[in-house]
Amino acid sequence: MSRLDHDIIVVGGGPAGSSCARFAAQQGLDVAVLERTGQRPTKRTSAGIFDHTWHAMSLKPDDYPHAMRTPHAFEFTTLKDRKRLPDVLPFLTPRLQRHVYFPNRDEFDVWLLKLAQKGGAQVLLDTMIRPGDIERGDGRYHVRVGSETHTARVLVGAAGTRCPVYRRYFEEASGWPGKTMLLTEVEAPESEYNGPSWASYFGFKDKSVFAWTYLVGDGKVHIGTAAMSTGRTSKKDMRFDEFIQFAKGENYIAPDFEPKDHHTSGGSIRMFAPAPMSTADASCHIIGDAAGLLQNDAYNGISSAILSGRLCADAIARGDANPKLRRRLHPYLFQDVLRDMMSGTLPFLRRV
Ligand SMILES: Cc1cc2nc3c(=O)[nH]c(=O)nc-3n(C[C@H](O)[C@H](O)[C@H](O)COP(=O)(O)OP(=O)(O)OC[C@H]3O[C@@H](n4cnc5c(N)ncnc54)[C@H](O)[C@@H]3O)c2cc1C
Repeated sequence: MSRLDHDIIVVGGGPAGSSCARFAAQQGLDVAVLERTGQRPTKRTSAGIFDHTWHAMSLKPDDYPHAMRTPHAFEFTTLKDRKRLPDVLPFLTPRLQRHVYFPNRDEFDVWLLKLAQKGGAQVLLDTMIRPGDIERGDGRYHVRVGSETHTARVLVGAAGTRCPVYRRYFEEASGWPGKTMLLTEVEAPESEYNGPSWASYFGFKDKSVFAWTYLVGDGKVHIGTAAMSTGRTSKKDMRFDEFIQFAKGENYIAPDFEPKDHHTSGGSIRMFAPAPMSTADASCHIIGDAAGLLQNDAYNGISSAILSGRLCADAIARGDANPKLRRRLHPYLFQDVLRDMMSGTLPFLRRV
């Protein structure tokens, strides 16, 4: 028999939601996570994470139970003359970014959710929540799950770009859309690939397009492109097909390689949106991609999702709306630090 009355309901069990649930449960709070996928989700492919991601999780790479690749740094490649650029990350963030880790994304997300469960959170899988399933009354949130209703005094929206909590309570207030990024990626067996282990291609055919080939933990290669946009970006603008042709031309992959024969994933992600973090009474919070926390440096959103989940759990335990979140996220967003140095403060988080 599942518990129905909680301190916190978290909608979405990705890195943000599972981290929020784990850290909140560790502080003695009763947490329920409502996640739409099943035991073995197949949603996203890449998971490039950094040293500071482990720090934010309070875990060590050795704690991870599955295979994981750990190159010492990215290889940055210019497309014009195929020159490898020096790895600048250690200079930009000498204390933070020494290694990059590539676990399998699904394994990583499932592991984080299991840690939340182990810590005491109740996890309901195969549970799709729509904005209309959420109501507020008598000082509590009521979320309909099939024939049952779960209630909690605090609600956390952690369900990514189309988060139902965001759509229910924040959409109008936040002035969407902000900036978005569109990504497509194909995941193929390593045996089909003959290129560099970890390569990033900036400005592929277009200044705003970023492309990559990474070997990840479970013997797979990830090949993808992303385009950043302040307006509408179409799939065509991502130049994914052209990048596949480029990889074939370089003999990285066989000439008869067809992306449709392999698992592909992708999506549109909100970033640097001036997203709200909490309602004025701190009873409802938005974290991770739902809050537009994706960074525009190498499509890295897992770290900030995890950190925002953790800070949100601390804020709920303390009973405040976490006004210091932006400042505390800063040391982890190196591009944000540079941007702020050049152009002043960017209010990507504000309270409503
Ligand atoms: C192709 C691709 C590659 C990427 N590669 C990287 C990378 O290498 N490194 C990196 O740091 N970032 C990467 N990102 C970004 C990263 O995936 C996100 O920033 C990160 O997953 C955000 O975590 P989150 O928990 O906020 O959201 P999500 O990971 O999107 O988790 C949201 C969760 O909510 C669930 N959910 C959604 N809707 C509902 C609903 N209505 N009801 C219940 N549950 C729901 C989803 O199933 C999901 O489990 C990539 C993104 C894409 C699309």
